[in-house]
Amino acid sequence: MEQVKVVLQDREIPKKWYNIVADLPTPMKPPLHPGTGKPVTPQDLAAIFPMNIIEHEASNKRWIKIPDEVLQKYLLWRPSPLYRAYNFEKLLGCPVKIYYKHEGVSPAGSHKPNAAIPMAYFNKVAGTKRMTTETGAGQWGSALSMACQMFGLICRVYMVKISYEQKPYRRLMMNTWGAECIASPSTMTQSGRDFLAKYPDSPGSLGIAISEAIEDAVTSKDKSHYGLGSVLNHVLLYQTINGLETQKQLAKIGVYPDVVMGCCGGGSNFAGLALPFVCDKIHGKDIKIVGAEPTSCPTMTKGPFAYDFGDLAKTTPLLPMHTLGHDYVPAPIHAGGLRYHGMAPIVSHLVMEKLVEPRAYDQLKTFEAGVKWARTEGFIPAPETNHVLAAVVDEAMRAKEEGKEKVILFNWSGHGLVDLTAYDAYFLGKLQAYELPDHEIDRALEAIKDFPKP
Ligand SMILES: *Cc1c(COP(=O)(O)O)cnc(C)c1O
Repeated sequence: MEQVKVVLQDREIPKKWYNIVADLPTPMKPPLHPGTGKPVTPQDLAAIFPMNIIEHEASNKRWIKIPDEVLQKYLLWRPSPLYRAYNFEKLLGCPVKIYYKHEGVSPAGSHKPNAAIPMAYFNKVAGTKRMTTETGAGQWGSALSMACQMFGLICRVYMVKISYEQKPYRRLMMNTWGAECIASPSTMTQSGRDFLAKYPDSPGSLGIAISEAIEDAVTSKDKSHYGLGSVLNHVLLYQTINGLETQKQLAKIGVYPDVVMGCCGGGSNFAGLALPFVCDKIHGKDIKIVGAEPTSCPTMTKGPFAYDFGDLAKTTPLLPMHTLGHDYVPAPIHAGGLRYHGMAPIVSHLVMEKLVEPRAYDQLKTFEAGVKWARTEGFIPAPETNHVLAAVVDEAMRAKEEGKEKVILFNWSGHGLVDLTAYDAYFLGKLQAYELPDHEIDRALEAIKDFPKP
């Protein structure tokens, strides 16, 4: 009998998060204050985030202790299992061993609670009473709803309107965990009202939903703070529990990967698995690290590395990142969690340093891979996760062509049980292989042409 999964005991859970900033070969560019053009100070961020989280955002300490209260919640589903995908390997018939970290076992069904739980905890400790956030497909909103409930915080989620309409079950999960969920653009905020006046029929975007959630937190009379589900340094930091667990699991079976892969929306699940391996790569390991994104939102493969806002209403600092422009409204592809105009500054920096290789896949390829997966390994992947599966298939085929044996490790970011309408659309032949035309990128980039250059 072959060993299918590697599990860790509760007591083996990593007790610290890993901060890649301490090991980068060249320093990252700082986020800038849009008014002064100077690097942002902790004070600039204090209206949005509590100071303990701002410290993590700006930290260059290599290891950051995970509080016991957070570990205790993580243990509800962590350490998550590491699997070997024997059945999928057999179907592909390529000289590869495929390992995947199963992040779909969390209560919310994805990696998102890894960041939501510490975020709610640090807010609670700092005296926050209420959190606001945005959500695309609904995974982040549901994760933060659960985390806020765990620590006794009120939670309001602005959900991209098209997903709000297409995905009632994610909204109901948020409601079940005690949160309020509002379709964005909404009339609750000035930025929502301004946007609706211009585009009354807009399907919404993460960019506008972020603007609404920040405005709500900043203008609310309750002690409110905002929580972002990806992109920022502290979110990626909290996700590293996943890669650290994986390294322990691989060590138990004496395996080290040749390729590490993840799908990329804002970069958090990919980074969570990959950053501890990027550290090894920086220190000389021969390993390839690949981030997979949609061709309809090709932030890393086609967007420049530039300073840009994280949201449409220009409320965030200017972040140094790969971007398609903050007013870019992505095509309504069925992977809501990957439809963001920017990429985490850390991941963007690693792409510039050639430590991470980006690749783009269209949604037909991704669903084809996802259905193959479901029909061999059983677990039904989220549409976002299907992007890394397309990349895994691609990498396996390359191994076959090169006649090389390879060990592939990837992050199975979440299950698709609440996304089956997307599978329905795929089966009915309604999905298109959308590729963002270059003229559309040029148009979107007009919005940032006068910003400072990194
Ligand atoms: C949110 C989400 C993603 C994309 O977000 P990242 O921040 O890039 O990880 C990918 N997969 C799943 C299942 C998600 O919920």
